[in-house]
Amino acid sequence: MGSASPIARQLHGDRPFDSVCPTVGAVLSGLRPEVWDKRYGDVLNSHGDISRGRQLIWELFPGEGNDLTVYLFHYHQVHPDNPGSLLELYEDFFHIFPEYRRCDLAQLTWKKPTFGYIPAHFPLKSDGRRVAFDRLLAIGDAASLQSPLVFTGFGSLVRNLPRLTDLLDVALQHDLVSAADLNQVNAYQSNTAVTWLFSKGMMVPTGKHVPPERLNAMLNTFFGVLAQMPADVSDRFIKDRFGWGEFHRMALTAASQNPAIIPWIWDLAGPADLARWLYTYLSFTVSALGAAVLGGWLPALVQRSRPALLAWRPRWGLRLLAWGYGLKYTLGQPRKAGLQ
Ligand SMILES: Cc1cc2nc3c(=O)[nH]c(=O)nc-3n(C[C@H](O)[C@H](O)[C@H](O)COP(=O)(O)OP(=O)(O)OC[C@H]3O[C@@H](n4cnc5c(N)ncnc54)[C@H](O)[C@@H]3O)c2cc1C
Repeated sequence: MGSASPIARQLHGDRPFDSVCPTVGAVLSGLRPEVWDKRYGDVLNSHGDISRGRQLIWELFPGEGNDLTVYLFHYHQVHPDNPGSLLELYEDFFHIFPEYRRCDLAQLTWKKPTFGYIPAHFPLKSDGRRVAFDRLLAIGDAASLQSPLVFTGFGSLVRNLPRLTDLLDVALQHDLVSAADLNQVNAYQSNTAVTWLFSKGMMVPTGKHVPPERLNAMLNTFFGVLAQMPADVSDRFIKDRFGWGEFHRMALTAASQNPAIIPWIWDLAGPADLARWLYTYLSFTVSALGAAVLGGWLPALVQRSRPALLAWRPRWGLRLLAWGYGLKYTLGQPRKAGLQ
């Protein structure tokens, strides 16, 4: 039932989501070729400076034929005084779309609206997010293990499908359907968990004045660093496949080029969330170390011994298989043929 699932709400108790991205957009066609080259999309194209407590950002993806999908969104702190109205955002969308991509709105073919609140959770560690009750398992947005930075709810599910389907098959074959068993079947990645500080750094806290140019200055620094890196590094970063070394290279280069970033993030995230993030960061470091030392051989060994393991002790077998997959997937799976 997606992120609004009442069962997911029961699983997560009083902490359903840590942030949302109010998002509005459309599938449309009719932009002239000199305005948009359909071989390209836009990932995080910011619009103007912070205004009314929001830094608006465009996303644009090529679709079938001459169709394109376009979104306007902002990173948003969940706050009762500031719900983040989608209707107001649609007003902004229609008002500023011709500024973003020169066009006459009446000449475009509007095929369907696409809108919603895209939620994010800031996990502290791999078992910080429950995904199961006895005999009941959440997958997709209901499990809410997507990246908080780039919108990969669907992408994250697809990338993790091999491990999710295999572990679920093992659990069902051996009748391992208690909450503890089914909680092994999850799509946690420590490298995406650590990026929530970046999304936090792009949220304007409700009622707080932030200099209007601040978020653009941060985005310019980070994307400037990404642009200087080899193309495969930025590709991995955008697709949640970056490793520990790449993360540090990027963060340290950004901090050395623009040292003001550190007090800016401190100001936006606050000491309590930074302390939480340090915990996530430690978990990322331990996972990366585990992947470096064990990832090259242990998952293969577990896979080779799986028939014997599962015949002998199915519950241990499921846990070892989940651990092996965790070592392989914690920094994102490398690209596979046909699987982006
Ligand atoms: C505007 C927008 C843009 C996005 N862009 C991207 C992107 O670029 N890349 C990406 O990877 N992800 C993107 N996402 C996220 C992606 O759409 C989700 O991660 C994905 O759809 C999750 O799939 P799901 O099956 O888990 O949940 P959903 O697609 O939400 O499906 C849940 C279904 O359950 C139904 N349902 C709910 N309650 C009940 C009930 N009580 N009874 C019966 N049915 C019920 C709902 O109607 C819905 O059809 C975007 C989301 C939005 C809103």
